[in-house]
Amino acid sequence: MTDLTNLGIAALRDGVAKGDFTATEVATAFNAAVEAAQPALNAFIVTTPDKALESAAKVDADRAAGKALGTMAGVPIGMKDLFATKGTQTTAASKILEGFTPQYESTVSQKLWDAGAGMLGKLNLDQFAMGSSNETSAFGNVISPWRRPSDTAPLAPGGSSGGSSSAVAARIAPAATGTDTGGSIRQPAAFTGISGIKPTYGRCSRWGVVAFASSLDQAGAMARDVTDCAIMLEAMAGFDPKDSTSLNLPVPEWTAGLNADMKGKKVGIPREYRLDGMDPDVAKSWDDGIAWLKDAGAEIVEISLPHTKYALPTYYIIAPAEASSNLARYDGVRYGLRDLPDGAGLQDMYAATRAAGFGPEVKRRIMIGTYVLSAGFYDAYYTQAQKVRTLIARDFTEAFQQVDVILVPTAPSSAFALGEKSADPLEMYLNDVFSVPASLAGLPAMSVPAGLDRSGLPLGLQVIGKAFDEQGVLNASLALEQRAQFTARPAKWW
Ligand code: GLN
Repeated sequence: MTDLTNLGIAALRDGVAKGDFTATEVATAFNAAVEAAQPALNAFIVTTPDKALESAAKVDADRAAGKALGTMAGVPIGMKDLFATKGTQTTAASKILEGFTPQYESTVSQKLWDAGAGMLGKLNLDQFAMGSSNETSAFGNVISPWRRPSDTAPLAPGGSSGGSSSAVAARIAPAATGTDTGGSIRQPAAFTGISGIKPTYGRCSRWGVVAFASSLDQAGAMARDVTDCAIMLEAMAGFDPKDSTSLNLPVPEWTAGLNADMKGKKVGIPREYRLDGMDPDVAKSWDDGIAWLKDAGAEIVEISLPHTKYALPTYYIIAPAEASSNLARYDGVRYGLRDLPDGAGLQDMYAATRAAGFGPEVKRRIMIGTYVLSAGFYDAYYTQAQKVRTLIARDFTEAFQQVDVILVPTAPSSAFALGEKSADPLEMYLNDVFSVPASLAGLPAMSVPAGLDRSGLPLGLQVIGKAFDEQGVLNASLALEQRAQFTARPAKWW
């Protein structure tokens, strides 16, 4: 039998349905791969091999009984540890939630189980999804399976969905959930040579997802290719009355609608993304992407998104502001950690719990957020940022009157080494320069692998689409995928 861990969602599901192998064999193979890689990659916070086997047994029994199988039947996946999973610890990679076992299941994870997927475990991430490298996790760094051919320095798998990207790239999970507030699906996908899509804001329910910045947070799919992302996103998306910002729209049949023919489509190339001093390999991969979409039949149009340069500072006001409010709930009373010094009063307990429970990056964001929302500075920072956010969204609305999709790089560089940027938060934030504009505008965006740079590491290309047009994003991404022919894989060292 072929090594089952080499297969993606579609191949696993179809193989199980046809009887080429059983779901139990699939779960067993991935459980073993997870166990073998866990000490080296630290992609999971907890592994749940029994859960994967339990779901697989149900799929095998359903198949034997002739019952209809779901679109993810027999596919074991990794679940980012930001999704509440009933009976399985959910931490957001923070000490403050260590030991918290939800009594409920997030809507997105429930939909995946309903589609027949199983859970390999809860994936590591940057603490409360704040970060670009996974170095802010309270459960240790995730290590990328990639290494530069020249050395063995451990590389960042990107963030915050770094457990997800590392696991999919290392072939220890065929797919994983991610969440994206300012790039956390796209940038880790780019760093590890996999695909990842963040849908339109509101497509996936946020119910049961640990909140970071509620007006930006969106769940999405991370997998080996565009087709697998389409299958998985279709299973995750849909209206949820329990999330007041959930889109009350039917979920289109994205997988059935996949079509890489770009004839008659216009692709926008925003000139503001061509930064001074841009990494030449990133610039070249962008040019390759332009040539590939032209080859697929698209017309290339230069466009302007004039407020792009304000996106990063705007994001780093709005996201911390919302985070400081969302994270006020962690007070030692309701969840996880409680630090109650001898003779302490209620305020002391709050302070001690939060001091012990939150990591430095989370504290930094709470302080920035509280500052920009404070009475004296609210208008100067928060109100101003909201206005600029509107201008950024308007830039996209105007551009999409001329073009169908926009093509840009996903990140300004390939993966960096652990420790390389963690001393300087501003430098780390700069990594999000190409991903935050689409987040602020609530638009669907996808990263697909584009090739390797001079250091032998993957680069990603990003397709941004109109609101609700995930199909357009997936189709352009498929056109890129077919031409990029990205087959590079990390050499196995773990
Ligand atoms: N890197 C960004 C941040 O640190 C984005 C994180 C995310 O999308 N969750 O906020």
